[in-house]
Amino acid sequence: MRIEAERGDITQQHVDAVVNAANSTLLGGGGVDGAIHRRGGREILEACEQLRAGDYPDGLPVGAAVATTAGRLPARWVIHTVGPVYSPSEDRSHALASCHSAALRVAEELGARSVAFPAISTGVYGYPAEEAAGIAARTVRTADSAVETVRFVLFDEHTRALFAAEIGQG
Ligand code: ADP
Repeated sequence: MRIEAERGDITQQHVDAVVNAANSTLLGGGGVDGAIHRRGGREILEACEQLRAGDYPDGLPVGAAVATTAGRLPARWVIHTVGPVYSPSEDRSHALASCHSAALRVAEELGARSVAFPAISTGVYGYPAEEAAGIAARTVRTADSAVETVRFVLFDEHTRALFAAEIGQG
């Protein structure tokens, strides 16, 4: 698997699947979630509403992942996952790792060969970016997955550099 880190906007990635840092309602929010729904259009929200009416009446659990159409985004699918809210007193790294492994599992089931990830949980959910980068990189590196390319897409240079260091990209 090829693993990359680059600065950019996740909604502009030409990949098979983009991962959304969603919240458990699946009905939209701020940050990455807001940007994906805004640019992807109503189709994504409608697909999320169907998931809520079907398999996920109580919402998507933390650490789980589920796919929908990517609507008008230049990708085929959006894979929604719910990161943990950071806690200074409780280790929630397992849940953050699970977001990455579950998203890769869903990607593989779809036949996606390239997947773009944002820095899950490092925005509103408060995870320190360095810690999140380590967990994300380690989980993706050790995943036994048919996905060929994972691209971490980071909004700012500081976060990009942290992810680049964790994946060993100069
Ligand atoms: P969470 O709720 O999981 O913390 P956020 O969406 O609030 O998720 O933030 C996750 C990270 O994504 C933050 O580092 C934020 O700066 C970044 N981010 C926000 N919008 C975008 C975007 N359009 N593309 C890539 N990264 C983004």
